[in-house]
Amino acid sequence: MKQLKLATRQGEKRTVIDVKGVAVGKDFVVIAGPCSVESEEQTLQTALLVKEAGAQMLRGGAFKPRTSPYSFQGLGLEGLKILEKAAKITGLPVVTEVVDPRDVHWVCEYADVLQIGTRNMQNFALLKEVGKANKPVLLKRGMYSSLKEWLYSIEYILNEGNPNVILCERGIRTFETYTRNTLDMSAVPAMKALSHLPILIDPSHATGRAEMIEPMSLAAVSAGADGLMIEVHPDPSVALSDNAQQLNFDQFRKLMNKIKQLVAFHKQLNQEAQEAAHEVR
Ligand code: PEP
Ligand code: MN
Repeated sequence: MKQLKLATRQGEKRTVIDVKGVAVGKDFVVIAGPCSVESEEQTLQTALLVKEAGAQMLRGGAFKPRTSPYSFQGLGLEGLKILEKAAKITGLPVVTEVVDPRDVHWVCEYADVLQIGTRNMQNFALLKEVGKANKPVLLKRGMYSSLKEWLYSIEYILNEGNPNVILCERGIRTFETYTRNTLDMSAVPAMKALSHLPILIDPSHATGRAEMIEPMSLAAVSAGADGLMIEVHPDPSVALSDNAQQLNFDQFRKLMNKIKQLVAFHKQLNQEAQEAAHEVR
């Protein structure tokens, strides 16, 4: 593709991103936590549970890019301080969204990974700012964006000097209304062919339905995704945002058991395939 120099794959080499010892792009990673940081109790409880269930990173929004200005906008700095405490207690690295270029430098003091949400995938001022930051970036696909446009957004970040970009497919807009978005699972093999960067699936925002998180998570493992981002809440029915799609603790625990087994199965399959290829040679 014209004018893409850094985002596209050159040869077989894939980028592995180290987030405080978690090797994104090498080991399968699960990032889990609430849609929004609502209180210290809700966040700490969730952080402890997702850690115990086997997640590698904690998510939580302190700045919420809501469709309506009257919806809960997040706790801001207070939310970041709660995430910091949860990270300290659990040892989990924290992924949190930044929505304003002016906030990037100080959000870096609290976040281990800076998330750029779907609505900001083409906010070029924000992309340039996180491109200058010394923290990895999790770049979600714009809900109306083609893979080519996503690649150009990645290029904006890499071109500023930050090589650590994790991709996340979170569903795109189609004519379908049953699901919140349409999960484009084919983005996984496509972006693996086009780019050298790791790619995650977010089944929570892609479907908007708690009962669809398990089948789509397992499908993501089989599609070759490098990990998942899943919303979890102690009591989703009272969540201040995205209450239809967050998993409760019991649902998340059960899902993690299945994910671990399927990841192990795929590892074995790949090993066997590699050994067979070796024997042929
Ligand atoms: C989120 O992950 O908190 C979020 C707002 O997701 P998206 O940008 O994909 O809607
Ligand atoms: Mn959400």
